[in-house]
Amino acid sequence: LPSTTERPTGEHPSACPRKLRGDEEEGLSNSRRVPSRPLTVVTGSQNPGVIPGTNPPHVGRDIVPERPPVDHLKEVARVCGIMGYVGPREAAPVIMDGLRRLEYRGYDSAGVAVANGSIDVRKAEGKIVNLEARLEDEPLTGTIGIGHTRWATHGEPSDLNAHPHTDPTGEFVVVHNGIIENFQTLREQLEAGGAVLVSQTDTEILAHLVAEEYNGDLASAVRRAVERAEGAYALVVMTKREPRKIVAVRKISPLVIGLGDSETYLASDIPALLHRTRDFLIIEDDELVTITEDGAVVETIEGELIDREVIHIDWDAEQAEKGGFDHFM
Ligand code: GLU
Repeated sequence: LPSTTERPTGEHPSACPRKLRGDEEEGLSNSRRVPSRPLTVVTGSQNPGVIPGTNPPHVGRDIVPERPPVDHLKEVARVCGIMGYVGPREAAPVIMDGLRRLEYRGYDSAGVAVANGSIDVRKAEGKIVNLEARLEDEPLTGTIGIGHTRWATHGEPSDLNAHPHTDPTGEFVVVHNGIIENFQTLREQLEAGGAVLVSQTDTEILAHLVAEEYNGDLASAVRRAVERAEGAYALVVMTKREPRKIVAVRKISPLVIGLGDSETYLASDIPALLHRTRDFLIIEDDELVTITEDGAVVETIEGELIDREVIHIDWDAEQAEKGGFDHFM
């Protein structure tokens, strides 16, 4: 049986349209390269079969690798955008601004979650303007939130599959850039325990795992959740139980923290935040970071504190496009 699905080499059906790429509309340089298309690779026992809306298993391939080469995960990690904000200002406009600046990475849908007592989520398939329209109809109010532009790997591009995803109680919310390779096994485990998953994504499982692992400390819950997951992730999590904090963890997919004045940002790349701050922490593989308005605490995935140096960026976004920031990713 073929156990590898692969994206076609042609245009992604819902890829960010040409006119949105390279920020031409904003008058910025269009020298940014649009990332090549990521591959979806599902292996052996993890093969979920054909998920509606995803590509059928690749036909005509005799030799199927046992595990996806890491490069495939790296390709996936180069697309999609993540944003987070905690501070005194309204979170939704800050997050939407960041998502627009991350559009060049490519996406098929977008979403945002803001915590303000409860956690409220808005999402929309297609361009960011669709999400903007939704937010106009149903605004989000609150000063902490997370956002995402998705490039689907598991499950078709749709409102439902767009991130953020919540656990069934709605108390935990996640966004994720990457692939969870053992998602089918995890899905079966969760369903055997009575869980009902509402989307086709690998990401929703992470919201369930964090909720299941929660025992009063979000960072510990995220740590235990990703111990159960294999693959690539920048995973960003909020819970209404710890309302002024965002926890994120990284493996392969990029993640940076921007340090402001009594406000803290999180993003997939530095240029998305350069108009807001010049002080950054670069999160590396297998590291976990907790952000509050007071700053960030970086730890290894095992929970050992890391004294991460704050990097002060002198260059501007255009210089970054010419190669300055690739170094950090
Ligand atoms: N694998 C996840 C999904 O299909 C995340 C894709 C991404 O990086 O945007 O929803």
